[in-house]
Amino acid sequence: MRLEDLAEEIMRCEKCPLHLNRKRAVPGEGNPNSRIMFVGEAPGRNEDEMGRPFVGAAGKLLEELLSSIGLRRHDVFITNVVKCRPPNNRDPRPEEIEACLPYLKAQIELIDPEILVPLGRHSVGVLLGRIGEISIMRVRGRVYEVEVFGALRKVLPTLHPAAALYNPRLKPLIREDFEKLRSLISSGLEGWL
Ligand code: URA
Ligand code: SF4
Repeated sequence: MRLEDLAEEIMRCEKCPLHLNRKRAVPGEGNPNSRIMFVGEAPGRNEDEMGRPFVGAAGKLLEELLSSIGLRRHDVFITNVVKCRPPNNRDPRPEEIEACLPYLKAQIELIDPEILVPLGRHSVGVLLGRIGEISIMRVRGRVYEVEVFGALRKVLPTLHPAAALYNPRLKPLIREDFEKLRSLISSGLEGWL
């Protein structure tokens, strides 16, 4: 299966009720060969309109954070735990996450990233399993070597950019976590682009 075929399948998917209210599913985008993959929570209004991840205010901050460590959005791969927008931006339900997870699993297998960066507690919970049940403030900015869908990966959890927009006091923390990512990259991720 190719990444493009997977995206087509996601755009047609009706496996959970989130398809009923979406305008467009948001499979994710970026460099399919990147060693780094960002995983947000779910598309918001702008993403639902455009069919692209992180194109609203949170996306602006994400781009700024990336550029602060010398990366552009097309250098990395960016996706979400669930691919369709929950009505009124409510949290995705466990059964919706479960229905959608095979897509994230397939994307991770195809892209085969060395580092996964979950953005916010929902994504952290999915990628870190039991560890992700610990408070995000405790796990953020640390590098975990864990099995994700059966393969060993580095996971560097951070806060959701939307949370940092809502509470500006969190911004220095998210910046710190991106600096951690920068040092991880420079400490020996070879051929990561
Ligand atoms: N928030 C997310 O979690 N994902 C997006 O794509 C946009 C906003
Ligand atoms: Fe399918 Fe995922 Fe969209 Fe649900 S959220 S309809 S499982 S693509």
